Amino acid sequence: MNLEQQLQDLTKDMYGKAIADCSDSEIYYAVLQLSKGLMEATAPISGDKKIYYISAEFLIGKLLSNNLINLGVYEKLDEILKANGKELSKIEEIEPEPSLGNGGLGRLAACFIDSIATLGLPGDGIGLNYHFGLFKQVFEDRKQKAVKNDWIEDKSWLNKTDVTFDVKFGDRTVKSRLYDIDVVGYEKGINKLRLFDIESLDESIVGEGISFDKEAIEKNLTLFLYPDDSDEAGNLLRIYQQYFMVSSGAQLILKEMKEKKYDLRKMYDHAVIQINDTHPTMVIPELIRILVDEKAFTMDEAIEVVSKTCAYTNHTILAEALEKWPLSYLEKVVPQLVPIIKELDKRVAEKYDDPAVQIIDKDGRVHMAHIDIHYGFSVNGVAAIHTEILKDSELNSFYKIYPEKFNNKTNGITFRRWLLSCNKPLANFLTETIGDGYKKNADELEKLLEKINDQGVLDELMNIKNIKKQELVDYVKEAEGITLNPDSIFDIQVKRLHEYKRQQMNALYIIHKYLEIKAGKKPTTPLTFIFGAKAAPAYIIAQDIIHLLLCLQEIVKNDPDVSPYMTVLMVENYNVSYAEKLIPACNVSEQISLASKEASGTGNMKFMLNGAVTIGTSDGANVEIHELVGDDNIYIFGEKSEQVIEHYAKADYVSRSFYENDPVIKEAVDFIVSDEVMKVGSKENLERLYNELLNKDWFMTLLDLKDYIATKDRMFADYEDKQKWKKMMLTNIAKAGFFSSDRTIAEYNRDIWKLK
Ligand SMILES: *Cc1c(COP(=O)(O)O)cnc(C)c1O
Repeated sequence: MNLEQQLQDLTKDMYGKAIADCSDSEIYYAVLQLSKGLMEATAPISGDKKIYYISAEFLIGKLLSNNLINLGVYEKLDEILKANGKELSKIEEIEPEPSLGNGGLGRLAACFIDSIATLGLPGDGIGLNYHFGLFKQVFEDRKQKAVKNDWIEDKSWLNKTDVTFDVKFGDRTVKSRLYDIDVVGYEKGINKLRLFDIESLDESIVGEGISFDKEAIEKNLTLFLYPDDSDEAGNLLRIYQQYFMVSSGAQLILKEMKEKKYDLRKMYDHAVIQINDTHPTMVIPELIRILVDEKAFTMDEAIEVVSKTCAYTNHTILAEALEKWPLSYLEKVVPQLVPIIKELDKRVAEKYDDPAVQIIDKDGRVHMAHIDIHYGFSVNGVAAIHTEILKDSELNSFYKIYPEKFNNKTNGITFRRWLLSCNKPLANFLTETIGDGYKKNADELEKLLEKINDQGVLDELMNIKNIKKQELVDYVKEAEGITLNPDSIFDIQVKRLHEYKRQQMNALYIIHKYLEIKAGKKPTTPLTFIFGAKAAPAYIIAQDIIHLLLCLQEIVKNDPDVSPYMTVLMVENYNVSYAEKLIPACNVSEQISLASKEASGTGNMKFMLNGAVTIGTSDGANVEIHELVGDDNIYIFGEKSEQVIEHYAKADYVSRSFYENDPVIKEAVDFIVSDEVMKVGSKENLERLYNELLNKDWFMTLLDLKDYIATKDRMFADYEDKQKWKKMMLTNIAKAGFFSSDRTIAEYNRDIWKLK
């Protein structure tokens, strides 16, 4: 039956109306139904060995557009709807964005399950179905307020299954239920995202904002991603969540092994478990426990089989982000794992006396990453420089023991979402210009380089950028009530708010520009600085940085001397859907983390693919972008990671001396507590941030500020040379093929998973 007939039947069935008579919302639910039917009719991907990608986060974004593209029916449906007076892009807006992730790590997991299916590899994601997910951000009095993100609807991509498991904690047993979301490969078969939920959840316990009783485990377990962990109850809740995820996941994997009649003693021939950061680490002791307690394995046998099945991905070198649970907490929540963890620790201690590699430290804290490294067969970093830092410094003691386990897998992004779906004019133009081979083989984007002197191509790239800028202007007008100037340079920094990512350094540049304009030095082309970032609710300085940005937005807007030349906008509730609108509209991509601190970044790749030019430090995947595009097509500044690591080792960075010795730095920092800002802002927040920058500045903002200002000024000056800029755009797009997550996943499979 043809697609139009199917949709027509659905709208008749569901609403008793023809397509043309339905509202956008009605059409959305009909198309959702239609897509689910198409997915049901698509063959599951099968094979003798399967990858289980287990992750606390899957930041999947809205699914309609992506699924239609991957099912190969987007254009057809677009035509059908147009013929009925409907606009598919409007209908996509109806879908609520799933709130199952926080930032890059969760978005990576989402890109990966797309690529795993696209490469035709059998593989499922395993995670949790958080009802209110990560909080929704609203601004009140120029401050972030966190409210619950109620995203689950009656009709959604979630499919309730009849699979349930008992999950036993020390003090209670709960029932988990499996929900599936189908994952369609690009013109390929179906895998699944398997999300566990608790049967007894009670959404009504959430009070003001995102507050709730942290001890009511049966009611709260899958309410929120990363519940506040500033007290003991919050920490315990996170352990409850993690164990709930891994216990359910382990039971599911063993169930599938049994159904396929695989020999558990050869589990590693049929299953590989990729542990995405340390949140799912307990899957290792949990599997060992089950094999020993229920499957008659000896401890030696269980450890061997599990170690050959599990692989670990490290995402950070930030010490505060490496999970360490007090043994006493684990005793409370998962006492059954404690003897296993102690046994794993004992075996390590017998072989190695280096305190840096012990599982349980002298303070009785369990280092989760250390379990992964000793008892997994692979440890990978997520960009070349990150993996080198792991090997040379952060995990050097481990690298000396297990050099063969360490490997690099530079992150990637799915081009289906980050080009085909979010930037259709560019995707179509690329198809016209170089053919559509790039859609399946991203390296073919390099063909675009042959057009670097083709004026028509150069002009059209800029034209498409301007179209996407205008679309963003229209959206921002509607969503935020703010008017942007489409003829200005769009300079964008969107990512989680963290001091190491240095949004505060960008803020200091803006202050510097503001003061210059006030003094009569006007930019040739007006500037628009856009931010989007959520800050963890308990992260005080991050809240202060958001406050400063919102104050700057207000000051600039209300200053008639400056507002014609400059705009500051912090968008509310930055998420995947917003990213899909912002990134195609960007001219200048801000990737300014303190060198050595950003493991990879993936935002940098999305911007590059969409023809933005990067200003960035030599950090994470920026280093690889730099190598690919060359010095002339990127703006690199700031101290290198070796120097930064040395500053930490010698403890010789003193932010105050940068402040005292440079009037430009001093002027910008002082402005934070000036009368102008105090008038619109709160003294407490602004003074705290000012003092932090002056007295601590752990992520060395002032170290790179001068170089940042000079580099950014040079970049904006270069923008005036439109021909040069267009060539930079073209080169960035042409060289982005390496960052397809299809390439990343092919490497995971070649080196780690080894599926057929
Ligand atoms: C890609 C992405 C990120 C990661 O951005 P980085 O700049 O790599 O930190 C975070 N949030 C969203 C919504 C994204 O799409």
